[in-house]
Amino acid sequence: MSASLFRHLLPACLLLAAAPLVRAQRLSPLAPVPDWRELEAFQETITRAEFAQLLDAVYAPGDAARGLITVSDAAAVIRTSLNPAAEIQLRFAPIAATAKVPPRDWRPAASMGPAPADRPLAGVKIALDPGHLGGDWAKMEERWFQVGSSKPVEEGALTLRVAQVLAPQLRALGAEVSFVREKLGPTSPEKPETLRAAARAELALQGITNPRLTYDPALAVDPTRGQTVQWQSELLFYRIGEIRHRATVVNETLKPDLVLCIHFNAEGWGGDPRNPNFVPRNHLHLLVNGCYSAGELRFDDQRHDFLMKLLNRSHAEELAVSESVATALSTAANLPAYRYTTPNARPVGATPFVWARNLLANRLYRAPVVFLEPYVMNSEELWSRVQAGEYDGERLVAGVWRKDLFREYADAVAKGLVEYYGKARAAK
Ligand SMILES: [Zn+2]
Repeated sequence: MSASLFRHLLPACLLLAAAPLVRAQRLSPLAPVPDWRELEAFQETITRAEFAQLLDAVYAPGDAARGLITVSDAAAVIRTSLNPAAEIQLRFAPIAATAKVPPRDWRPAASMGPAPADRPLAGVKIALDPGHLGGDWAKMEERWFQVGSSKPVEEGALTLRVAQVLAPQLRALGAEVSFVREKLGPTSPEKPETLRAAARAELALQGITNPRLTYDPALAVDPTRGQTVQWQSELLFYRIGEIRHRATVVNETLKPDLVLCIHFNAEGWGGDPRNPNFVPRNHLHLLVNGCYSAGELRFDDQRHDFLMKLLNRSHAEELAVSESVATALSTAANLPAYRYTTPNARPVGATPFVWARNLLANRLYRAPVVFLEPYVMNSEELWSRVQAGEYDGERLVAGVWRKDLFREYADAVAKGLVEYYGKARAAK
């Protein structure tokens, strides 16, 4: 039995020559070439039964990994690149009792030991990741609308404010809190201008080889603006490069036990952010990483990244915390569960609120991620609560006494965390 992870080592010339290797890989936008040697540390850390269960029920339902990952009795054989084909062999632990501990920088709650009753989060490292950028970037990232001269609804500012209200509460409960983004704007040093070459490459992959450079921002609806270098480089900047940068900070510097990705949901509000469509619906869901499609798994980086999530066992922790937080938030905000009707998400766990979905952030952040999508920003109720802003105590909202939006959100998240960590640590 070979101890080597690599069944077929890549030729040395490919390892040494970066450019041919990049071309040999199939990579998502701005993804680095995956380092498959990282899997060596996970040899004999998981049984065949647990690997197969996580693969089939969570990460690659519907046999999405067929032809890419083959589960035999003793090992999973994983294709590390499609062209040229190379494979590694991940050996299973024969039984759970002899499985080695998987290497990871985060701690499950059950391993932390009991905490004082008034500080149930004592020692828990929690990273707060307010979604999006906000501020000067809110219009570019299309997370902004305004009705007449009313207060604009800007997701990147709302999420930051929730994080700011939540942080002192979590600290008072004993948590060590860090911010992945602590002010309006990007955390990444990149700019759209530095990503123009990558934007051209992405457009070329879409068959657009001679793209227009810019689009006119005055046009409310420009149906071809997605084909411009400007639009594509902006997209790479705020949606991909920014999250990749945050992931590097989370994984290499902050190393939290849990990441809270704070968002607000929205439904399509039409093409004009100054004349948005309102919807009557308001709802809640949370996302854990999973539900990769066969197409997504054909990207070498996504296959690598999901295996890092599967093998470090973040799923059980992120599902359990998400369920606790979802229950608290649904009660406090009186929100029903959102239900996907598309195949990119599937329900997981015992509540109707948590769905598995492959997002860049919950894929790249290796610690367990609670990805929050409560409230529909373009529902009239949410819009009016943004207009009401922050206030002390409670006010009547549609006939019900409510805290302000930020406190309601933050208090419920804190309550869900207290309930989860209180139970999980006492059970030790
Ligand atoms: Zn969002």
